[in-house]
Amino acid sequence: MSRYKYPEFSDGFSEKSDFNLYKLITQEVYKNLLEMHHNNDNEYKTNGLRFYYRYNDTMNATARVRSGFDEIVINTGTITQMRSWIFSAFSTKGVLRYCGDSSKENNVESNASFDYENKDIIQSEPPIDESRRKFAEYTALFGIRFICMHELGHLLNGHAALFSELYGFKEIEMRQLAKDFKLNPNNGYALDRRTIEMDADAFAVTQDIVNLDGIIKNNVAEILDLLPNPYTVYHLWAFAVQSFFLLLEKSEFSEYNDYMWYLPNVGRQRMNIGAAMTTVDMLMDARIMDVEPLKKRNILLNIEAGIREAQLFFNMNKNTEFDYLEGMDDDVEYNKYFDEVLEHWDTSMKQRLSKYARSNLSSSK
Ligand SMILES: [Zn+2]
Repeated sequence: MSRYKYPEFSDGFSEKSDFNLYKLITQEVYKNLLEMHHNNDNEYKTNGLRFYYRYNDTMNATARVRSGFDEIVINTGTITQMRSWIFSAFSTKGVLRYCGDSSKENNVESNASFDYENKDIIQSEPPIDESRRKFAEYTALFGIRFICMHELGHLLNGHAALFSELYGFKEIEMRQLAKDFKLNPNNGYALDRRTIEMDADAFAVTQDIVNLDGIIKNNVAEILDLLPNPYTVYHLWAFAVQSFFLLLEKSEFSEYNDYMWYLPNVGRQRMNIGAAMTTVDMLMDARIMDVEPLKKRNILLNIEAGIREAQLFFNMNKNTEFDYLEGMDDDVEYNKYFDEVLEHWDTSMKQRLSKYARSNLSSSK
């Protein structure tokens, strides 16, 4: 019998639904990256990507290789929690105030819930200002896209296949549950795991920054016309991703510890800022992104501002005092753990992944 009461589903929703949107976006990136790398000499292949949802209110997601397919499973709770949080932010006066007219909002919580019958999301009390509703949609999408891309990184960079060979683990789950601590750090699992989680985050950030650059160039999203300047898109993205890490932190405490499968959320976000800026350099070097004086600095300032605003909103609502940017440059624990995963990546993990990877594994993060 299944662990879960409801079977995973990959269809049954309408074309216009969010479920279809996340699935299409992920499949599109998967297809494009495979095409870009079809010439590499790696023999490893799968039958394609299958994208599922699991009706479960917890925030969680999974990457796995099953029956010869790459598979991603996203909990419905990941989507409803992200959407509830982001829509509530846009329903609050003074929050993200350069987006539309926040003075029209009346600070009412906006809740997303999953309608199992119709396989759809129902959003109660969306922002009153029409353009803020639109921004809420895009910002929530940025957050959920980051999660989808992280899972895709586990597949295309070969993590899921290697871990099933090394440890017999069928799934790479987003959550480390109490029962998971029985794997002690001496068998190397925790360090291997922290290292691939760093890589999956870096993959997600890279794909997201490339996507934001595309949005700014093409304005397909038609949200640029409503923003004070194009850089604000980075602010919204950082707001969404930071909100995700804060929601994770609130539901499960994280810390620097050799038993942990992840660096703590604060450490992950610090790495993500670095990965974002590395991607900007890469895009500029390749002349995909225009090289303009101050551009890099403006992007960084907007990412930091988005992180700060997400924290401010979170701390205000949950009575917490998170500050992910404080003491960032000289955090001894962060530097120690960060150096450890980098070293492990370069000396061990990258080489072991190479037979399963279907993307360019970076030589050093
Ligand atoms: Zn992961």
